[in-house]
Amino acid sequence: MTEQDSRDTSRASGGAGAQAPDESAVKAAIEEEAARFAGSADNASPVDGERLFAPPFFGYAAGDDPAWRTLSSGAVECSWTPLEAFRLGIPDSSASASDLTVVSAVLPATPETTGDQAATERFPAARWLASRHSHGRSVDGLARCLASRLGSMGIERVVPDHLPSFRTLRHPVHVFTSTWSHRHAAWAAGLGTFGLSEGLITRAGVAHRLTSVIVRARLAPTPRTYAGFRDWCLFYSSGKCGKCIGRCPPGAISAGGHDKELCRSYANDVVRPWAAARFPDMEGAYACGLCQAGVPCASRAPGAGD
Ligand code: SF4
Ligand code: SF4
Repeated sequence: MTEQDSRDTSRASGGAGAQAPDESAVKAAIEEEAARFAGSADNASPVDGERLFAPPFFGYAAGDDPAWRTLSSGAVECSWTPLEAFRLGIPDSSASASDLTVVSAVLPATPETTGDQAATERFPAARWLASRHSHGRSVDGLARCLASRLGSMGIERVVPDHLPSFRTLRHPVHVFTSTWSHRHAAWAAGLGTFGLSEGLITRAGVAHRLTSVIVRARLAPTPRTYAGFRDWCLFYSSGKCGKCIGRCPPGAISAGGHDKELCRSYANDVVRPWAAARFPDMEGAYACGLCQAGVPCASRAPGAGD
């Protein structure tokens, strides 16, 4: 485990009330940290200083929510439950599943980024590429900010995808999967449902990045105002829309769903070399994301009545 991993997963020294933190104090600290992050250098483009994401918002899922079993055995299959991830991060913790809460964060794309991305048809807009290229500093930075702040309050916490044993995996049914899915955590935390393009449609739309932190604190869960995995996608809820199909340059989206192999090869084999030639200051950038802008669910959840 690296020094950074340790900061993201271990119990902080000092701090009071480690086993029974006050809910309102924890949620206030999370909101404060989100506001601080939104104006920080972690959320600023290294190219021009423009903010990369709009202010984050949060949902909360109980660690013993029965949905985790469904997710870990069905929808994602290789995914850890919150308790499994927590014990990997803090093996000597006495926490049970009911002591834990998954804090799920949505970082919405800014209106400027979504607007630029909607205006392009084959390659991502520069703003979109910049926000994805800076993922490690911005999205992971938010998770680190939250982990650090909660640690200073004496609260045990784990950032699942910062664990050394976190893996992305090949899967016979799901093609690619991972040991922790921020999207499924966000679904469990009442933040939205999946679309035809497989992005998570939130109240702020599908153009966003996600992260999550597992904390040892019992925080009131965010109600899930949906029953299934795809309720907020117009295609699944009403048979209409399908706008993301026409937005995908290689044709990786169809009425049958999202072809992950084709999507990945377009990003790697077509977008990556194009971006390297055009934006040499964003070395390694390869995001596509054209299906996440210029569509009805880009900045809202039309299937939820928004
Ligand atoms: S564009 Fe339409 S069909 Fe595609 S994910 Fe959004 S709501 Fe669903
Ligand atoms: S990210 Fe790009 S290639 Fe992948 S499904 Fe969306 S539009 Fe298609």
